[in-house]
This record gives sequence, C-alpha cells and structure tokens, in this order.
Amino acid sequence: MDRATLEMKQEELSRRAEKYMKEPWTLAQRPFKVIENIYFVGTSWVSVFLIDTPDGLILVDCAYQEVLYQVIDSIRSLGFDPKDIKKMLITHGHFDHCGAARAIQEMSGCEIWLGKDDAYFFTERRDLIALEDHVADFKIDQFYDYENVIEFGGMSIRPVHCAGHTPGTTCLIFDIMHNGRKLHCGIHGGLGTNGLSKLELQDNGWPLSQQQTYIDNLTALKEMPIDVVLPSHVSHAVDYDFFEIAANDDGTGDGFIDGGAWKRMLESKLMVMKALIDQEEMELKK
Ligand SMILES: [Zn+2]
Repeated sequence: MDRATLEMKQEELSRRAEKYMKEPWTLAQRPFKVIENIYFVGTSWVSVFLIDTPDGLILVDCAYQEVLYQVIDSIRSLGFDPKDIKKMLITHGHFDHCGAARAIQEMSGCEIWLGKDDAYFFTERRDLIALEDHVADFKIDQFYDYENVIEFGGMSIRPVHCAGHTPGTTCLIFDIMHNGRKLHCGIHGGLGTNGLSKLELQDNGWPLSQQQTYIDNLTALKEMPIDVVLPSHVSHAVDYDFFEIAANDDGTGDGFIDGGAWKRMLESKLMVMKALIDQEEMELKK
C-alpha cells in the first residue's frame, strides 16, 4: 500500500470513528442475554460482554467513553449493578475496547487485565491507542498469563495470546454448561487488518513479520473447537448475524450455538490478510 492510499484509508477510518464519537446514539443496541450467564451490553459497532458469576461480574472490554452511558444503562436494564463488576478483561489496547475503562474502574473498583505487549500503548506510545485524547488513564492491575487460566466465580477463562492486530491482542476462551452439555465459547480479541500494511507496521514500530504472525496465529486458532462465538465486533462474523440471532432467540440461547462460525470468521480474516500481502507484493514488482 502506498502512502497516499494509506492516508486516504486512515482518513476514512478516523472520519467514521469521529462520527461514532459525536453521534454515539446511532450505535445504540438493545442489550440481551446471549446464553446462560453471558450477556451482550455493547453497541452495534463494538461489543462488550458481561459474564455473571456468584462472585460478581466480569466485563470483557468496555467500549469507549462516549458510549459509556449506553453500556451502563444496558447493564442496569438487564438487572445488574455496574458496581458489581470485579474484573475487566480488555482484549487489546485500542480506544474502542478500553476507552471507558477509567470511569468503570472508578465506579466499581474492578481489576483490569490487559495483554502485556499492549501495555506500552498507555505509557510511551499513546498514539497507538488511536483517538487517544478520548482515553483517560486507568490502572492496569494484571497482565494475562498465557500459561494459566483466570479462575473467578466458577469460570475458568483461558487467555490466548494472538499477536497480530496489535502485539498484545488476547483471545478469551471458556466453557459453559448448557442443558447438560459443555459448550466452548470464544472471544477473538482483535481481527482487524488495519495497522498491518507494511507502511503502518513501520509507522507503529512493529516488525514486518507481524503480518505472518497474524496469519500463523489465526491458522492455528481456527482449528479450535468453538461452539459459541462472541465477536468483539459483530461485523467480523460470517453467516452468523449476532443481532439477528438475538432478535429471534426464544430465550434459550440455542441459536448462538454454531460449530462453524469461529472457523468461518477467522478464515475470512485470513483471506483479507493474504490479499493485503499479495497486493503489497504486486506493488513491489511494479
Ligand atoms: Zn482494534
């Protein structure tokens, strides 16, 4: 990708993000129970998941400040108290996933987890957060330990390092019991290929090999048996219309069980990444 094309793409992205900031109500999404103790409390653009446990609530990502009122309202309208959030698991260091972290941390005193390799976004490279002026500092309490599960309130959540979209992108994998059957749930922490062109990698100070890292990680992960996909951006899913499923759900959550959705989502992103690499190779040959 040449510099002019990149700048055009980045302008388009930031125009869209600015709109999401200035008109957050356009992203409002009815909150709903997904399945068992898992709830959706995010926006139509970026997801926030709430996991209810006997020891308190776990929040996966928190979206950004401008939509905080929606997230809080969604949590309350499902009958939960945001003050009961004990842990916030952030999938990666971009503003749309962590921008509201400070306010929620102050409100609830929750412990915040992040992938270690994104931690420097919040110290030396705030520009990598993107729209960083909208993100207040927050305390990172724990880094994911990829050798160990997070045990809390009867849940065992396995963090899986999936460097690519950002260096510290982390997937969260856990089981739930549903009608006597164990279901594997998967949240992929970051699948966007924005930031992964050669020029962007250079600008970000990331190795060019991160393109291949992205491919290798997705290639390995897509074979993971996942029954319920919890997409961090609903638009990433393929033939798995999260909001449509929610709209048609009879309260059982059965519609969210789809053994192929994880693989389809990761394969489609692999194709996007490979196309970007091919395009860059062609441009080099010109
Ligand atoms: Zn991101």
